[in-house]
Amino acid sequence: MAVMNPEANRGILQPQAILTPEQLAAGRTGESGIVVTSLEKAVGWARTRSMWPALFGLACCAIEMMHTQTARTDMSRYGMELMRASPRQSDLIIVAGRLSRKMAPVIRKIYDQMPEPKWVISMGDCASCGGVFNNYALVQGCDEVIPVDVYVAGCPPRPEALMHGILKLHEKVRAEGIDGWNDRGGGFGITVG
Ligand code: SF4
Repeated sequence: MAVMNPEANRGILQPQAILTPEQLAAGRTGESGIVVTSLEKAVGWARTRSMWPALFGLACCAIEMMHTQTARTDMSRYGMELMRASPRQSDLIIVAGRLSRKMAPVIRKIYDQMPEPKWVISMGDCASCGGVFNNYALVQGCDEVIPVDVYVAGCPPRPEALMHGILKLHEKVRAEGIDGWNDRGGGFGITVG
């Protein structure tokens, strides 16, 4: 294995001998080196730094979800700047708002169309338990329809609360290993807020 020296030969990259253990032990040299990690950690890092949410705003909570994309909370810092309009390009669905019984089959279809692995955040009281709307028209918690990883409490949750939920989800994804996401079964998760 060789590392490249950009200084050599007028900027043309040339193979160079690998750094010796003494050079590595000497600390940061500004030169290329080696990073050693486990496959599970590498996969967890990649998943949590490229998690694209599906667009799924249902009601007032969606305004706070949109706000989470703005400069103050800035989801882009975590590789989440793209809210995808296609479930086939999404890893995460944020259920933001009350879920009517009419929309329940729709959200299930969108969830099924997302490629695996995939995660769900239930944003706000309505999505998590029906909120103040205890009536026949609304699903009393979106975990009746899809499995939820993180519940964010509030009516509506502030963008900071949603960001907290996203960071909790990142912790969960890093801890669950390569295929642990598939073991979470139906409808349990972490509550924040
Ligand atoms: S939790 Fe509150 S803000 Fe969110 S959808 Fe329900 S009523 Fe609207």
